[in-house]
Amino acid sequence: MPREVIIAGNWKMHKNSSESKDFLSKFAPAVSDTLHTVCLAVPFPLISDISRQAKNSKIQIGAQNMHDAEEGAYTGEVSAKMLLDAGAEFVILGHSERRHIFGEDNAFVNRKLKRALESGIRPVLCVGETEEERGQEKTEAVLKKQLSESLADLSSGQISQVVFAYEPVWAIGTGFTATPGQAQAAHAFCRSVILSLSSEEVSKEVSILYGGSVKPENVREIMEQTDVDGVLVGGASLKPEAFAQIVNYQTMKV
Ligand code: PEP
Repeated sequence: MPREVIIAGNWKMHKNSSESKDFLSKFAPAVSDTLHTVCLAVPFPLISDISRQAKNSKIQIGAQNMHDAEEGAYTGEVSAKMLLDAGAEFVILGHSERRHIFGEDNAFVNRKLKRALESGIRPVLCVGETEEERGQEKTEAVLKKQLSESLADLSSGQISQVVFAYEPVWAIGTGFTATPGQAQAAHAFCRSVILSLSSEEVSKEVSILYGGSVKPENVREIMEQTDVDGVLVGGASLKPEAFAQIVNYQTMKV
């Protein structure tokens, strides 16, 4: 069975409600014929409105983070149930900005992942090494640790519901994309770790997205790699034309 191809955008802390409406009115018609799964992770305050606006489109709306607790005294945090109630279908977990700016560790990501799966919101688990770690040839060790600790105690069935994103930290927002060869090698390695934590069937069926300075100009060569099943796009997902070109990379001329 071919794996699900997922093109996901991450708006980070960008756009207000009128900008998001304007984006969707241009972007939705431009991707209406795609066979790919198209996702947009938006800031919390936009989820309700934009998921209503996206209802009859190809676009799934999601969040960029959540807390692992069901509810409680966690000032400033948002639960999986709240996200679902607002209309989110997926949530990004363990993004490098959460790990590096907000100090989230694998144990926290693991708790969030369990809560997301139990609540019925689809998790997109991000992993990736820093420039220094790559320079020290620690990429595989870092990916193995992030994957095995983030997926700790999950059954194969639960792992099969996770979308994975390999995002080298040195490529996020920097304009330096991994070469197709670097992306393929890291994706194949992630798949081998997922195999060791689940089953052959699960490791073959899960989608692994690449993230890190993806643009209309480089998406095709990245998507051509055997173990790359989609992309997670930050900066270029803010522009409806560019993000639509990425979704439609097979037919668009860039
Ligand atoms: C991201 O935020 O996950 C990302 C990959 O950003 P960018 O595409 O801007 O590098």
